[in-house]
Amino acid sequence: MEDCLFCKIARKEIPAEIVYEDDNIIAIKDIDPQAPIHVLIIPKEHYESILTVSAGNNIISEIHIIANRLAVKFGIVDSGFRLVNNCGENGGQTVDHLHYHLLGGRSLSWPPG
Ligand code: 5GP
Ligand code: ZN
Repeated sequence: MEDCLFCKIARKEIPAEIVYEDDNIIAIKDIDPQAPIHVLIIPKEHYESILTVSAGNNIISEIHIIANRLAVKFGIVDSGFRLVNNCGENGGQTVDHLHYHLLGGRSLSWPPG
């Protein structure tokens, strides 16, 4: 989408610290990290949220597989980590382009605020 922040990052029109990229996915460091490791895993194709991913689409599975690989890369497998998708206003979604947060490197409280 023309005016979408994460589409622009995927097209390299806005700079970001890229930690992983393939044909379908880009993963970047969050600009406002909430943990020592805070990576955003973003499909290059624009989906407004998980609600607009159709059945049979592999993108969510691909994102989870990349999250596993990034957890290994950043050394947070043994200590544990969290993979989060915020959906909609009450879910805390602020960028309307599907993405998952990979958070680790500190103990994360539960329930979330
Ligand atoms: P949400 O609140 O939608 O679940 O997550 C959006 C995330 O995008 C936030 O954690 C926010 O810090 C991050 N973010 C917003 N703008 C930028 C940006 O320009 N670059 C990067 N790397 N992250 C951003
Ligand atoms: Zn987008």
